[in-house]
Amino acid sequence: MRRKIVAGNWKMNTTVAEGVALASELAANFNQVPADVNLVVAPPFVHLTSVAEAIKGTKIALSAQNCADKAKGAYTGEVAAGMLAGIGCQFVILGHSERRQYYGETSATLVEKIALALENGLQPIYCVGEMKDERLAGKHFDVVKAQIEEVLFGLTAEQMGHIVIAYEPVWAIGTGLTASNEQAQEIHAFIRKLLADKFGAKVAEDCTILYGGSCKPSNAKELFAQPDIDGGLIGGASLKAEDFLAIAQSY
Ligand code: PEP
Repeated sequence: MRRKIVAGNWKMNTTVAEGVALASELAANFNQVPADVNLVVAPPFVHLTSVAEAIKGTKIALSAQNCADKAKGAYTGEVAAGMLAGIGCQFVILGHSERRQYYGETSATLVEKIALALENGLQPIYCVGEMKDERLAGKHFDVVKAQIEEVLFGLTAEQMGHIVIAYEPVWAIGTGLTASNEQAQEIHAFIRKLLADKFGAKVAEDCTILYGGSCKPSNAKELFAQPDIDGGLIGGASLKAEDFLAIAQSY
């Protein structure tokens, strides 16, 4: 069944103490979150164990923001999917545009990361989305199609059932610009059609597809009302418990 998910990507923000305070505030106010909305937080790696403790006993799920494309070994500075699963992560964000842009993450690497995440029982939140010039040139469908085909089309239908997709137009991330409801719905429906053609109607219908890009309390309600938008991947607005909770209440 398709799930409603509101996930907070904290990126490289907050000290451990600030992160624990934020997570504790979310935990204390979790009763404000509708029963059918799954709340996920993705703090920096070094916060994960402390945040796991702060949200223990609640239904808030823990996500990492990345994982290695190798299972273990001499890869200085990397963190393996198995390590993340071992400390209680249920999700991992993969293919975020900041990783693609600033750290040269490619489809080939992402295929490996997704395979390792799945092997270790993590649910990837796989991010796709076009750059501003690609949107202006009318290439957004082609870009998103390639990102989906190159990374997800080698999966089985069973594996695809564990993937969450986040459509995040790069021009909307952290810019204050948001895709219009129509722009977002159009791409979400397009993604679902791609999945239906490849994996079948049931997998496509059950896949949770999130919108990300300057989603905030003032625009979440109308975005989430679109038939193919199943929640949000939230950056800036996830750093304030009040805003993040307000977004979660926008269904
Ligand atoms: C993100 O980076 O995943 C994101 C959606 O950021 P923001 O909400 O700040 O645009």
